[in-house]
Amino acid sequence: MTDLRIAIVGFGKIARDQHVGAIAATPGATLVAVASRNASLPDLPHFATIEDLLEKGPAIDAVSLCTPPQVRRGQAVAALAAGKHVMLEKPPGIGVAELDPLIAMAAGLKRTLFATWHSRYAPAVEPAREWLATRRILSVHINWKEDVRVWHPGQAWIWEPGGLGVFDPGINALSILTRILSKPVFVTAAELAFPANCQAPIAAKLLLADLDGLPVTAEFDFRQTGPQSWDISVETDRGQMTLSGGGRRMSIDGKEVAEAPDEEYRELYRRFVELSVTGASDVDLVPLRLVADAFLLGKRIIVEPFVD
Ligand code: NAP
Repeated sequence: MTDLRIAIVGFGKIARDQHVGAIAATPGATLVAVASRNASLPDLPHFATIEDLLEKGPAIDAVSLCTPPQVRRGQAVAALAAGKHVMLEKPPGIGVAELDPLIAMAAGLKRTLFATWHSRYAPAVEPAREWLATRRILSVHINWKEDVRVWHPGQAWIWEPGGLGVFDPGINALSILTRILSKPVFVTAAELAFPANCQAPIAAKLLLADLDGLPVTAEFDFRQTGPQSWDISVETDRGQMTLSGGGRRMSIDGKEVAEAPDEEYRELYRRFVELSVTGASDVDLVPLRLVADAFLLGKRIIVEPFVD
């Protein structure tokens, strides 16, 4: 089988930090070009736009869209129309409904549309899911607090409509939550804190539940300095399980039981290569729907302006 020839579109922080290395480490995948308005990689063909890439670039089989979510739908349509498989960074879109025609288009063309949730591939997520499957869950608390200036420096798009603000990392927690719980949850109340000069929240508190009334609380905050937290704690009838480090570590009643190196992005590319063999798609919109519902239901408070 020949390698899946991939072009990265939108060469920013995540492309540089994760995608390049993950593609290099994935059997069956090769990075062959970059399309980004300003950034490029030495020794690789570079194009300013996806249109230029598709028209003038080397032969490719797939694109990995690492641009901000506001511009990805148009890029996905262009790539699918040109017969390419498409990997979408998270979140898969700026709205839920815009994914439906993309899914249908990919299916009609027998091309892969892969909406990635990298945090679901964190090493302790599957062990946590298995541990919880045999227990009665009493409550869940998500504590997802990070310093936006450290993790998203200069990313103006995150504060624009569709940028999600604090839900940009918060949706990772929801992607893990909806993987480790066996029953669907839904948002029952939310409070969203918008800086006076921004179109997206800097902090949010969510209440969620399942049909049995399981209480799930979530706190997301972009203003965290000092220690950062990406933790999910689950009380069960037989002990407390905590996933920390964004799903990298699992502890039971305070004792660490699982930790493994972070190979989230290698797993994403392994899956992308696997899907592309048959042109199957993998698009789960549940985490995005929860965020959309938080915006629908959320009480809005205005807080002090954010200056990067
Ligand atoms: P980023 O650093 O801003 O990189 C995105 C790149 O896309 C920019 O450097 C820019 O490159 C290009 N771009 C920006 N606006 C564009 C526009 N209007 N049209 C076309 N291209 C544009 O953002 P990022 O952190 O890499 O995040 C990108 C996506 O990955 C987001 O959806 C984010 O949620 C996801 N993600 C990020 C992280 C993380 O830790 N940062 C982790 C996981 C997932 P040019 O100027 O060269 O065009």
